[in-house]
Amino acid sequence: MRIIRLLSQDTYRLRSTMANPAPSPPRRITRSSLARFAYVNGKASLSTSASSPDIEDVIPNTASTSAASRKRKRATTTTASVATTKTAATTTPSPPPRKPRKIKPEKEEEPDDEPKKPAPPPKRQRKPARPTTDPATGHTTITPPSDWEAVYAAVQRMRLPGGAAYPAAVDTMGCERLADRGASARDQRFQTLVALMLSSQTKDTVNAAAMRNLQTRLGGAPPGLNLENMLAVSPADLDALIRAVGFHNNKTRYLKRAAELLRDEWAGDIPPTVDGLVSLPGVGPKMAHLCMSAAWGRTEGIGVDVHVHRITNLWRWHRTRDPEGTRAALESWLPREKWREINGLLVGLGQTVCLPGPGSRGRCGECEVGLEGLCPAADRAKVAEGRRRREEEKGVKAEIEVGEEEEGKEGLAMKVEVEDKVLVKKEEEE
Ligand code: SF4
Repeated sequence: MRIIRLLSQDTYRLRSTMANPAPSPPRRITRSSLARFAYVNGKASLSTSASSPDIEDVIPNTASTSAASRKRKRATTTTASVATTKTAATTTPSPPPRKPRKIKPEKEEEPDDEPKKPAPPPKRQRKPARPTTDPATGHTTITPPSDWEAVYAAVQRMRLPGGAAYPAAVDTMGCERLADRGASARDQRFQTLVALMLSSQTKDTVNAAAMRNLQTRLGGAPPGLNLENMLAVSPADLDALIRAVGFHNNKTRYLKRAAELLRDEWAGDIPPTVDGLVSLPGVGPKMAHLCMSAAWGRTEGIGVDVHVHRITNLWRWHRTRDPEGTRAALESWLPREKWREINGLLVGLGQTVCLPGPGSRGRCGECEVGLEGLCPAADRAKVAEGRRRREEEKGVKAEIEVGEEEEGKEGLAMKVEVEDKVLVKKEEEE
């Protein structure tokens, strides 16, 4: 009965469809719907179960099954063949199977148009001062250090106003500048000599204070620093006036003895030669050369103090043991016109940037010599930091300049606008 009813329902649906040919969405004929009309044991049967499985689920996938079985078969065959091989190996040993060779992947060639990395800059060759003999004449000359001009120029820039090594104490309180310019020429020369004799092992600031004491308090009326007052003062009073300087006891004795020699052997003036100056107690070659330049205006040698000796050795211009060795080395190649100024340049550098002392106390990050890669003794970390800071400062400066330019344009535009308005107003009034 149920089958008959279902058939009649389908017949009714067929008839109504034929009677009403209005387009309707085509029904999808699936295998599940067809399965309802399946033959069972030679008879047509109509399944009505809603949960009947799709034909694809019922019919096994022969293709995949056969593939799987093939795989299984192959696996079995392989196992079997291995087993066979194993069995054979027991009877006839065969060489072990070769390992498969690894094939290295070929490197891909870079296209030609790809930008290549910039080649590193060639390393700077730094050579110290060295003797060179002319094979033709046999004459030996000293070749200067390879980079001395670049180093010298960098220091000169630093010692200009606005530079990292300006101002230095030596610029205002150096021995050359301590003589009273109101005194006579003879007294000025004497004062220069006294300043130099007090300066050893003493800072310029302390030396300048001691000189000021002598110039204002030495002698009677009027007080002043001259040969006569130096001869008249007692050693105790003189010592009290210069107590701040290093080794003041020795210096008191030297000053008193030198004053007597000047009176007795040099006609009351200072000696006009280096030899004469070094014959005085407490006066060495450095003082003598500086005194010749400052007091007599004649440069006969380089005044090498601890700063000049230390810094030129840091630059590896030479390897010398003491200031006298440095003086001889420098005088062998440094142009003569620089003999006087080099002392002030390097003393100022040593007082401000290339500070002496244990370890690396130098301000290498602010030193042009270090920043330009010219100093073999530079602290690399400080130099790198200094270069980074300089780049940042350059960037900020460029931004400010651009900003100012833009402001200028805006200002100009506003001005033009205002002027236009004024003109229009004038025309309207007319
Ligand atoms: S780089 Fe450093 S060590 Fe070299 S001169 Fe400058 S401050 Fe002195």
